[in-house]
Amino acid sequence: MITAIPEQNQTAAKEYVQSVYELVIKRNPYESEFHQAVKEILDSLVPVFAKHPKYKEHGILERIVEPERMVSFRVPWVDDNGKVQVNRGFRVQFNSAIGPYKGGLRFHPSVNASIIKFLGFEQILKNSLTGQPIGGGKGGSDFDPKGKSDNEIMRFTQSFMTELSKYIGPDVDVPAGDIGVGGREIGYMFGQYKRLRGGYEAGVLTGKGIIYGGSLARTEATGYGCVYFANEMLTAKGLGFEGSTVVVSGSGNVSIYAIEKAHQLGAKVVACSDSNGYVYDPNGINLETVKRLKEVERKRIKEYVAEHPGAVYTEGCDGIWSIPCDIALPCATQNEINEESAKLLVANGVKAISEGANMPSTLEAIDVFLNNQVLFGPAKAANAGGVAVSALEMAQNGMRLQWTFEEVDAKLHSIMKNIYANSVRAADEYGYSGNLVVGANIAGFLRVADAMIAQGVV
Ligand code: NDP
Repeated sequence: MITAIPEQNQTAAKEYVQSVYELVIKRNPYESEFHQAVKEILDSLVPVFAKHPKYKEHGILERIVEPERMVSFRVPWVDDNGKVQVNRGFRVQFNSAIGPYKGGLRFHPSVNASIIKFLGFEQILKNSLTGQPIGGGKGGSDFDPKGKSDNEIMRFTQSFMTELSKYIGPDVDVPAGDIGVGGREIGYMFGQYKRLRGGYEAGVLTGKGIIYGGSLARTEATGYGCVYFANEMLTAKGLGFEGSTVVVSGSGNVSIYAIEKAHQLGAKVVACSDSNGYVYDPNGINLETVKRLKEVERKRIKEYVAEHPGAVYTEGCDGIWSIPCDIALPCATQNEINEESAKLLVANGVKAISEGANMPSTLEAIDVFLNNQVLFGPAKAANAGGVAVSALEMAQNGMRLQWTFEEVDAKLHSIMKNIYANSVRAADEYGYSGNLVVGANIAGFLRVADAMIAQGVV
């Protein structure tokens, strides 16, 4: 039920939230991505603080923006030429109020403390939204897997895990994959962890291979989940994927399975990309080609056009958003849709955006979508399917059994429906009907905040 919140409570809540945001900037200078994530979340929590003073009294906001623990460590390794290389590793253990820290590892040259903290902070609320018992964490390294041999990847990941293993465990912190970390990297890291521990703790990592404790449908989960979420938004408006034109950025794990599910639901995906450029195929992207190029041959997306003469490759990533589409699924990386791209999408008649990547739309771009009544599924909700199935992988590991693909997919589908329904409900209850950014943040926050209150000042 919507209850009117007195004006002075709103003003006080705004001032309070702003003061915490300023504290974050002061305490974490130069961390622009972290500031951006904190701002997006804190601004949307104003109605919660206006309505429930108890959260301020318990210092929930001051505590939630400060990680419980953050480690940064040296990762030395030897390349194929016998040269010593040094990278930096990170793990942020942000919040464990509702379960062990949980979140992926990213290997990309852009990784730094700010990126890891923005991802870890978002992860707290995302994990809460799934309804699963998992806290928030994230990690990674500035290591660039591109162009490295298999042996170099193995030596790097073993060195990385040798240090990381001191801080993780099935009931403590459970990492998974993210950009640059797929099944191969998880496999090498699990092997090294097992060797160091001298025991088979299957639940320490998720995204494992099916033959050694992985869950069926984990590989597909984030991409499928992103499409399931978009479908919920569309269905509520009497729309759907059938017969629609879709643009998906990226061609990695999330993108590939978003394309697969969109095709299964009767849509035509006409474009995808990598960090060098994008491919437009008016006949519909051939997913088998993308899968082989990216998952097997580890080649660049531009190779696609050699096999599909009707397709066009364009250097640079931004232009992908100038392609007219009904549904856009940004599945590559943060801040890939800026205000200008958002305006182009709107001008070309886009009806829905569902974020497969983390924070792919800038704050200005989100405003453009919301102000133009475009259905907008924020990352925290729309891409939560991956971590949700990771939690299901942990559950299967704990029970030492394996569910079928159909069982996991059905659970994923119902989790995505619940995330949508809970986000809609929270938005309605706090006077922001139709705004899923606010709804998802509030629904995720309340569960964590209540657990924090119950557990005292820790
Ligand atoms: P992958 O490494 O499998 O794929 C990433 C894709 O994005 C690649 O096509 C990559 O191109 C492209 N890309 C990376 N950096 C940039 C850039 N700076 N500009 C343009 N394109 C870029 O990663 P995932 O698919 O796993 O992750 C994609 C996004 O989804 C990330 O934001 C991640 O945090 C998020 N996510 C992933 C989950 C998962 O389960 N995997 C779960 C929830 C969120 P190239 O090959 O050239 O590097």
